[in-house]
Amino acid sequence: MRRPLVLANWKMNGSLSANRELIEGLVAGWNGLANTGVAVCPPSVYLAQIAELVAQTDIGLGAQDLSSVSSGAYTGEVAAEMLAEFDCRFVLVGHSERREYHQENDECVATKFVAAQRANLVPVLCVGETLAQRDAGETLPVIGKQLKAVIDLAGRDALASAVVAYEPVWAIGTGRTASPEQAQEVHAFIRNELGSVAERVSVVYGGSVKPDNAEELFAQRDIDGALVGGASLKAQDFLAICRAAQ
Ligand code: PEP
Repeated sequence: MRRPLVLANWKMNGSLSANRELIEGLVAGWNGLANTGVAVCPPSVYLAQIAELVAQTDIGLGAQDLSSVSSGAYTGEVAAEMLAEFDCRFVLVGHSERREYHQENDECVATKFVAAQRANLVPVLCVGETLAQRDAGETLPVIGKQLKAVIDLAGRDALASAVVAYEPVWAIGTGRTASPEQAQEVHAFIRNELGSVAERVSVVYGGSVKPDNAEELFAQRDIDGALVGGASLKAQDFLAICRAAQ
């Protein structure tokens, strides 16, 4: 039985004071969330602050991106080993905003996946199709190709120590959510592609998850939790989503 997992992607939001308020709000409303894995992924400059704020709590920590290499002349990059020093457990790889704005292709995402595991981080491999790809009937081939790049480089067994996030690009930050049936179809496909490790991998959904749609998404057989953007910036909304996952 996989434990539900809810991850917060704060994206490029926050400040020292807003972060403290948000974490304090989560801690204050935490009651009874023992059965759900929860982690927040702040901008990397705030990892040290958040690591301290969540130290005595059940809230885990993740990063939003990493470099594919460990050290050296790579201005602006942050290595997996550095993230691990700040108690990160998770790191997002291949978020659609990285794929779109930073031209990260499937091969680049796969090297980041391997770099994360080299430092004992749990990569959260984000996959998803654009609206044009969905309309063209290419959803499953696109997701299959994104998964294959990682399986080819890391090996299928490596996925057993990872999380996969299905995030239809057209649903991210748009207020449009995939219907539970649309999401389930892709989650079932992903699980099938994972083969022998399928039952061990948490496959979470992302794309405008809110308190009012979380329950019906989590009711689907192959949806193990969520990657939450906008709604993770409000403590009450994020807590409601975490409760729905239990
Ligand atoms: C995301 O950025 O991963 C995401 C799912 O964002 P939102 O919940 O705002 O759609």
